[in-house]
Formats: sequence, structure tokens, C-alpha cells
Amino acid sequence: MDCLFCKIIDKQIPAEIVYEDDLVLAFKDISPQAPFHALVIPKKHIATLNDITEEDRAVVGHMVMVAGKIANEQGFAEAGYRTVFNCNQDGGQTVYHIHLHVLGGKAMGWPPYQETLKQPIN
Ligand code: 5GP
Ligand code: ZN
Repeated sequence: MDCLFCKIIDKQIPAEIVYEDDLVLAFKDISPQAPFHALVIPKKHIATLNDITEEDRAVVGHMVMVAGKIANEQGFAEAGYRTVFNCNQDGGQTVYHIHLHVLGGKAMGWPPYQETLKQPIN
């Protein structure tokens, strides 16, 4: 399968790995949007959040647990951090293998869209 993140799992493409076990891999984002920015991905290829099935319940739950573990190890768990799943075009997804962004090390902004993209409410 021609998937960038599957290639990172198979170690065909290098990445700075911060956590790995049988179910998931976590590595630093190549274009960090915060002082710390990693991606937690399942080793099973799942294209989008819309493709998660009942059999993926455990691995997706585990991804969230691992995000918390990484935040703890990085030392910003108590200060706070941001976790994000982007889904499809409007969600801003660019790599079609689900990934949980873990961003920390400074206060995050909200809301996650630009004024110019706001639609008028009728
Ligand atoms: P998305 O936009 O799909 O939610 O997030 C994809 C993320 O993958 C982006 O933050 C992007 O910087 C990151 N990314 C894209 N290509 C690579 C790569 O080859 N290596 C790593 N480590 N991150 C990547
Ligand atoms: Zn994949």
C-alpha cells in the first residue's frame, strides 16, 4: 500500500520515534506547530476516522492513552496540551492514515479556524 505512515511503520522512511509498541507508533511531526508536536498512529492502516470499526475500539483507545503517556514524559501533562484528529478535507487531513496530533509546550489557541473561513449564520 502506498501510504506514507505505513512506510514509517515499516521503517522504510525515517522518523524520530518517541514511543512504539505492538499496536501503535508515535513520532515527531516533520513540521512542528508547537514546541513539541508528535503523531500517534495505529500500526493497522485505517484511512480516516470515518473508517474506524468496532474492532478498532481498543487500538483507538490505546492511541489516546499513549498521547497522555507522552505528555507526561515530556513534562507538560499538568500544564496542558492539545490532541487533534483531523478528518477529511474540511478537517484539514493531509495524510490518509489516522493520526492523533499531540501538541504541547506552550498555550494553544482556539478556535481552530480562520475568521475568513467563517460562514454567516442565517
Ligand atoms: P494532517 O494534516 O493529516 O492532520 O497531519 C499530517 C501531519 O503529518 C502534518 O502535521 C505533517 O507535518 C506530518 N507529516 C507529513 N509528512 C511527514 C513525514 O514524512 N514525516 C513526519 N514525521 N511527519 C510528516
Ligand atoms: Zn497507512
